[in-house]
Amino acid sequence: MKICLISPASGRWRGLGKKKFFNGKTFRFSQLSLLSVAALTPDKHELKLIDEQIEDVSLNEDFDLVGITVMTATAPRSYELCDLFRKKNIPVVLGGFHPTFNVEEAREYAYAIVIGPADGAWPELLADAENKQLKKIYHGTVDEKKPIKLPKHLLKKSGYLSPHTTYATLGCRNKCSFCSITSFYGGKRYQRPIEDVVAELGSFKEKFFMFIDDNLTQDREYIVELLKAIAPLKKKWVTQASIEITDDDELLALLQQSGCAGVFVGLESFSEDALCSQNKTIKQPRYYEQAVRKFHQYGIFVEAGMIFGFDSDSPEIFEKTLKILDRIGIDTIQASILTPLPGTTLFKEMKDRIVDFNWEHYDYKYAVYNPALISREDLMGGLQWINKRFYSPRRILQRICRWLFTPAGYKNMYFPLFLNIAYWGRQFQFKVRGYNPANVKRKEKRAEKLLAARDQFRKYRFTEQAR
Ligand code: SF4
Repeated sequence: MKICLISPASGRWRGLGKKKFFNGKTFRFSQLSLLSVAALTPDKHELKLIDEQIEDVSLNEDFDLVGITVMTATAPRSYELCDLFRKKNIPVVLGGFHPTFNVEEAREYAYAIVIGPADGAWPELLADAENKQLKKIYHGTVDEKKPIKLPKHLLKKSGYLSPHTTYATLGCRNKCSFCSITSFYGGKRYQRPIEDVVAELGSFKEKFFMFIDDNLTQDREYIVELLKAIAPLKKKWVTQASIEITDDDELLALLQQSGCAGVFVGLESFSEDALCSQNKTIKQPRYYEQAVRKFHQYGIFVEAGMIFGFDSDSPEIFEKTLKILDRIGIDTIQASILTPLPGTTLFKEMKDRIVDFNWEHYDYKYAVYNPALISREDLMGGLQWINKRFYSPRRILQRICRWLFTPAGYKNMYFPLFLNIAYWGRQFQFKVRGYNPANVKRKEKRAEKLLAARDQFRKYRFTEQAR
């Protein structure tokens, strides 16, 4: 069979990778889920992999089977592709987070869908497709014995910062309300055999790689063993981690020795109310400052995931957050609007407040619900404003100078510098402007005061004239 695996992209993301500058390369991870599926495909089949951020889907080419991995924001584009392939009588299978949580909706468009991780279902699905007996639904499971060598030749390598991404663990035991990871993996966490991970890392030609685990550091015993095993490889790497690990100096030292240059940590907010509302394990934002200092002591830069739009967030939230980010020394941020994705507890809680069901808007940049203390427009304007301010050339320069004086930081300086420039380029590419909603509120209050004073004055003059 001739099989095409597609990672779709919509709106401004489609074809972004074709641009010469600021083309999103830094933020595009190699297609690990599609590559894992490709690795499970017997050699007798011909495979093609298309990442729509980099390449166009060719509708002139004939395939026997098309597989599409679907996130909520790419669901409309995936359904559009289903329709286009259906006209050519090519069966399309949808998998990934969105079809898993929207089975009925996805079934309307696709020939078959895979619920859960595709690995376990793929061999059976392929056999059925060959016999032209595809079922409507397949239930996938995680394949912990992931193949060590992935068919990376299928990737257009120039489109990615590093073709070398991998994972050691999958899933997370925490239950943050806005996150669908826990539901997708049925609350389970999987760990690959350490020798497999080390063998895979050893096969990477470049020094730099990324662990794209949901929460790499959740199991101490496993992570300690893993770090000791990868230290001799002398690689440099980045990952997502829990902020709680900063209480553990031995673990931080091991991270440093094994080449960890940076971590992405979901701080989400500096408001205790917001953290409690989302069932975060750390509910004390005071803890963050010392945690960031600890990472820096070990030469590890910190990218913070920040979310706006919690019920406790007022128009002042953006300027307040920016001040704290500057003060505690965060190196880069990934700012988002709280998004009630299907499959999350948040989605169930917010269902009645959602006003926008266009899935394409579920890309963390839109307010798809009515927030409690701020308007949807101000929330979106504020998000752009904080991004623009945080990545202003002045702030980037300040951060890089500060980084130079961080203990052991100069060794990994290349990473925060590169990321800051890439984020600045993204603001430039997407023409991010925005405004500070708190200033709008202040201006409105000032205008109200002026009007009130004018009315008062007129009233006074009228009384005086009447006398
Ligand atoms: S947000 Fe992070 S810590 Fe929370 S459940 Fe998801 S993966 Fe786990």
